[in-house]
Amino acid sequence: MDQADFDLFVIGAGSGGVRAARIAAGHGANVAIAEEYRIGGTCVIRGCVPKKLLVYASRFADAFEDARGFGWDVGDADFDWPALVAAKDKEIARLETVYRANLDRLGVAILEERAEVAGPNAVRLTRSGRTVTARKILIATGGKPSLGEPIPGIEHVITSNEAFDLQSLPGRIAIYGGGYIAVEFAGIFSGLGAETTLVYRGDKILRGFDEDLRDALTEAYAKRGVRIVTEHTFKSIEKTGDGLVGHLDDGGAIEADQIMFAIGRAPNTAGLGLEAVGVKRGWNGHVVVDEYSRSSSATIFAVGDVTDRLALTPVAIREGHAFADTEFGGKPWFVEHTMVPTAVFSTPEIGTVGLPEHLAAERCGKLDVYKASFRPLKATLSGRDETMMMKLIVDGESDKVVGCHILGEDSAEIAQMAAIAMRLGATKADFDATMGLHPTSAEELVTLRETWIAPTEAAG
Ligand SMILES: Cc1cc2nc3c(=O)[nH]c(=O)nc-3n(C[C@H](O)[C@H](O)[C@H](O)COP(=O)(O)OP(=O)(O)OC[C@H]3O[C@@H](n4cnc5c(N)ncnc54)[C@H](O)[C@@H]3O)c2cc1C
Repeated sequence: MDQADFDLFVIGAGSGGVRAARIAAGHGANVAIAEEYRIGGTCVIRGCVPKKLLVYASRFADAFEDARGFGWDVGDADFDWPALVAAKDKEIARLETVYRANLDRLGVAILEERAEVAGPNAVRLTRSGRTVTARKILIATGGKPSLGEPIPGIEHVITSNEAFDLQSLPGRIAIYGGGYIAVEFAGIFSGLGAETTLVYRGDKILRGFDEDLRDALTEAYAKRGVRIVTEHTFKSIEKTGDGLVGHLDDGGAIEADQIMFAIGRAPNTAGLGLEAVGVKRGWNGHVVVDEYSRSSSATIFAVGDVTDRLALTPVAIREGHAFADTEFGGKPWFVEHTMVPTAVFSTPEIGTVGLPEHLAAERCGKLDVYKASFRPLKATLSGRDETMMMKLIVDGESDKVVGCHILGEDSAEIAQMAAIAMRLGATKADFDATMGLHPTSAEELVTLRETWIAPTEAAG
């Protein structure tokens, strides 16, 4: 295409789209980005960032309790939900401004309205009715909560989108789902004092994670008073004078002030005009792409959650970066979706990188598994009934550490660092040769000697 309004038109100003727009503009491309909601996308506005802020808030109850064991008298603590929501909103508004300024500085045209593909090189802006042309189009529209099959009363439930902005903290909440978002919100609301029930249709929460993590978190949640109801589904939701009643498939019922559905997310591709331009879509409507994020249409690309890869912010960002370098910087590269560290910001939290044991067993001829379960030093004085779990999965033939799974305080931070070593191909012998940093919990990772160590008191 010789003449076009833009070299690149990005649809969606979330993690992947903003990074792609900025990098492409840095390479000298004339770039526009359209956003129908708020600049920053899911992660900044109603995902990772506000979620982690709520997680921090939810952990103060423990901190106040634990403080007593260390000689503090903290008195009675009060929690103010509207104050937390207001503080969170202020921070998100600040971040949105930063995202906008970064795009502005690079000369990216920001169009604050919905955009749809109108041809291989054309985008229609639905509010202004304008159609613009672009040499290349990037679909970075992310995903949205999916509510599953319609059931009676579904209009009464909330999703993670609404959970961030509730008018008041529910006294009782039922959360439907067993994935990381459901599990995290159960931890948040329970920590903030809500009577929390997690309803999951499978037999155990966190499908896909290492079995020991799933068991250990289930046990930890039970100790914390989160009720987990497995192998059940909601059949209907009833609004009563006293709140809501979620009716289960076995005739049981759960009374709650809010019922939150977190049963999965669907890619934002509906009505985008992709069929008309021959963009192939996958099982749930996602854009099918190759490793360079190229769709089946030569001028159309896609990154982030709208593709069926790993729905995580750092992944979307890197896919956007690789796309922009490849298409506009003359530096082709693609993202490797292996050894991606990830967390569940439950309390206690999970940090994990590499293969869970069941997948490692399929891929490695011989497997050595090292596990330790111990009481963290802090818990000795706080008196908290808490166990930290660490597990290394080692390929018995190469001695490479292929999986690292941690449950307990700061495990997400630890997993991030373990990921560097594992990406470099660290062996169990390398872990063993690394000096421990004492006294930490993480030092357990370099002192795991036995294939299984029974629970102990904190190391001296
Ligand atoms: C509750 C929650 C917690 C999460 N926590 C974490 C976490 O802890 N760590 C982590 O790594 N990831 C987390 N994620 C996932 C993370 O938010 C996503 O992987 C990431 O935001 C994907 O980025 P993206 O660019 O693909 O899409 P998004 O960030 O979703 O951005 C897409 C943007 O496109 C816009 N858009 C859609 N259609 C159109 C259109 N037609 N025209 C114009 N604009 C459009 C949307 O409004 C949105 O702003 C979380 C997600 C949720 C929901």
